[in-house]
Parts: sequence; structure tokens; C-alpha cells
Amino acid sequence: QNDLSHVVEADKAHVWHHLIQHKPFESKDPNIIVEGRGMRVWNQAGKEHLDAVSGGVWTVNVGYGRERIARAVYDQLMRLNYFAGAAGSVPGALFAERLIEKMPGLSRVYYCNSGSEANEKAFKMVRQIAHKRYGGKKNKILFRDRDYHGTTIACLSAGGQDERNAQYGPFTPGFVRVPHCLEYRAADQGAPTEHYGEWAADQIEQVILAEGPDTIGALCLEPVTAGGGVIVPPEGYWQKVQEIVRKYDILLHIDEVVCGVGRTGTWFGYQHYGVEPDFVTMAKGVASGYAAIACCVTNERVFEMFKDDADDPMNYFRDISTFGGCTAGPAAALENLAIIEEENLLENTTAMGDYMLGRLDELAGKHAVIGHTRGKGLFLGAELVADRETRAPAPEKQVQAVVADCMGQGVIIGATNRSVPGYNNTLCFSPALIATKDDIDHIVTAVDGALKRVFG
Ligand code: PMP
Repeated sequence: QNDLSHVVEADKAHVWHHLIQHKPFESKDPNIIVEGRGMRVWNQAGKEHLDAVSGGVWTVNVGYGRERIARAVYDQLMRLNYFAGAAGSVPGALFAERLIEKMPGLSRVYYCNSGSEANEKAFKMVRQIAHKRYGGKKNKILFRDRDYHGTTIACLSAGGQDERNAQYGPFTPGFVRVPHCLEYRAADQGAPTEHYGEWAADQIEQVILAEGPDTIGALCLEPVTAGGGVIVPPEGYWQKVQEIVRKYDILLHIDEVVCGVGRTGTWFGYQHYGVEPDFVTMAKGVASGYAAIACCVTNERVFEMFKDDADDPMNYFRDISTFGGCTAGPAAALENLAIIEEENLLENTTAMGDYMLGRLDELAGKHAVIGHTRGKGLFLGAELVADRETRAPAPEKQVQAVVADCMGQGVIIGATNRSVPGYNNTLCFSPALIATKDDIDHIVTAVDGALKRVFG
């Protein structure tokens, strides 16, 4: 390998890293990832790592080094690299067609650059609908405690992770919080142990009634909460949520930025629960990180409310995103989708997810520090506790020590470190959808060793 010491120096001197995630990377010398193949990446020192977090944040769903995606992007860039999205493009039209096939009930794809931007787009449409239909009144957006929707001020205003956001205030008005639905923490919420899912959904209705249903435009939820602790919704929750939004004529916005395009074993997380969203936003796994692409997908009911806007001169340029729908993104996304289909990766995700949850449960049998395991497909968490009886969270320092120990062993895992104060205690796993039993055994063995070393 070439000597990359100059790169390391340049990175140290000039790159402003995001500081919260991957502390183990940053606590050492800059750990620059240089190369990737399949499930593995190599750093500047040539050290191999098994990546159990798909590029850090649930992104590289089909794995590294996919020549077929790189070629499709190259061919597209040579044919046409850019023309403003409004003009339409070949891959943009073809990918939208393929995507909509996977999303019965939805019909329109609005291209964006990032998950944050896609969520902003949905929030803005909700506000516009309030003006178009309800005299500006039905403009509030409900979000859930522990959910996360992105980095912009509006997305942070819809962010259920206070600790991380405190310095960004004042926030955008009109975002209202509803309680989380993590059954393992029901006691902290004063919730009943029976029928928790219905209780948690009922809390949403209580907020709606307190605010006034005629002020609420939309409810925005992650299908399975990601950064806030891998929260798989409890039995009965989604069914009741769907009833509530119908009852009060509230638009349902599902943030599939993490779960979308295969992560939980279905094309989209909401499809496990039979709900009918009005907006679905997605980003990360749409092109597995081979090009920047995000989408805000809506149904025809939403689209109908905007289709006459083209005649309104005020709309000209109001919402053109320079790079949204740029040709490389959908060209990569088309190949990404084809790979998932041709290699049966949804089936693999379900099978390997079940296998991994079983292996984590075995670990819980050996390590009392594992208080709870949970997950859906290849999107899993293990919540660490200081005491199983009281469920007191394990200290963040020790949780981070487990992550660092795994990193030392050449296995990259993640941990919640930005959720509600005091709950930075869940180990997170999201290997690529191509993971094999051997890969999972390798990850679990590393975690087993790390837990032994850190907790004894
Ligand atoms: N929604 C969720 C659920 C996310 O996890 C993230 C990113 N971690 C976002 C939205 C924001 O996406 P982006 O970073 O692409 O703006």
C-alpha cells in the first residue's frame, strides 16, 4: 500500500469531521477508510475491518466494490452528467417507474440529495397543503420522541433527540412531540405492561386532542427507529396509528431513510405493518452510497393538490434543487435495485436477520449486561444495562469501550450515542444485505470477546 501519512496529516489539519459518531475512529489517529470490497473495508494502514454498520450509517446495503453500479454511473456521466432535474432524465424516469412498482398506493417521486432534504420537502408540502386546503390552519407536524429526521433546522425541530440538539435552538415552530414506543422502557413512561402498543398509539391521539385535530397536518415517524435505539414498534401500534391518522385527516409521513430499500427484509419498513403512507422519504440505501440520491415519494392524492402550481408564476424556481435527481443518482439506484432482486437480498436479509437475532440472544444468555435484544431484518440492537432488574442503562463509556474493542479486533459496530439523555447504551448492527452466517458469527464472536473484556 502507498504511504498515506500525508493524507493523514491533511485530514488532521483540515477536515472538520462530524464529531459524534465513531468516537473510536477519532480517538486514535484519523482512521481513513481507503478501500472496500463486499463486507470489508481497509484503512490507511492496510488494516482489514469487517463492516457491521454498512458504511457507518446503514447505507452500503449491497456491499462495496460493485463494478456494475460504478459502470452504470460512468456510462451515464459520459452520456449526460447533468441537466436540471425539471427537464427529466432517462435514469430518473426509469428509476421512478421501478421504485413505484415496489410501493403500491404511491405514485410520484420527487428527487432530492439527502434524507434531510427529502424530509424538508415533505414538511414543506404539508405546510403548503395547510395553506391550499385549510386556510393555513392544519400546519403542525407531529414527530416522535427518539426519532431522527436529519440535520437541517426544520429536521432538528422534528428531532426527538434532545441531548444532541440543545445548542441548535431556537427551533422552527409547529413541530409537536409524541412519546416513543420502546416497550422495554414502558415502565419509564408509566405505561401499562398489557397492550403497550395500543397505549403508545393512544398517546399520539392524546396529543392530537390536546393540540386540536384541526391544527395537525401530518404525523412523521420512522418505521423502525434507527439512531434512537433500534426501536421495533410493538404489537398493535401501527394498526392504531393508521386508524388515528384517518380519523383526524392527518397525512402520514414515513421516514424510510434508514429502513428503505431492503434493510428490514421488505422493500420498505412500513410494508411489514400494512400502513398506507401519504409521504415516504428515503436516501441512504437507495443507491447504497454509490451516488447521492434521495426521494420524497407521495401518493396521487398529495400530487393532485400541487398539479396546478405550474401555472402560478410564484412557483417558478421556488423549489428547484440544483442537484436533486441529477443523473448519476438514479443510474446507480437502478442497478442497486436490480442487484437486490437478482441476488434475492430481501430473502437473505430476513434469514440472516433472524439468525443474527438468535445469536445475539445466545450472547444475552452469557452476558447479564445485555438487557434486551431487538431488530427487524439486518437492523439489530442490543441494549446494555447495569442491572437487569432495574434496567438501569450501562454507562456510555463502557458501551463505547465495547465498540472500540471490536474496532481493535477489526470489526466495526455502532452504538446509539445521540438519543435521549442517559440512554446511550444500545449496540447497533446493520451489516450489508449480502451478509453470510460466517460474517455474522465473526461479528458476534468479536462482541462476545469485547463484552468479556469490558464487563468481565
Ligand atoms: N432520517 C433518518 C431516519 C436518518 O437516520 C437520517 C440520517 N442518519 C436522516 C433522516 C437524514 O439523512 P441525511 O443524512 O441523508 O440528510
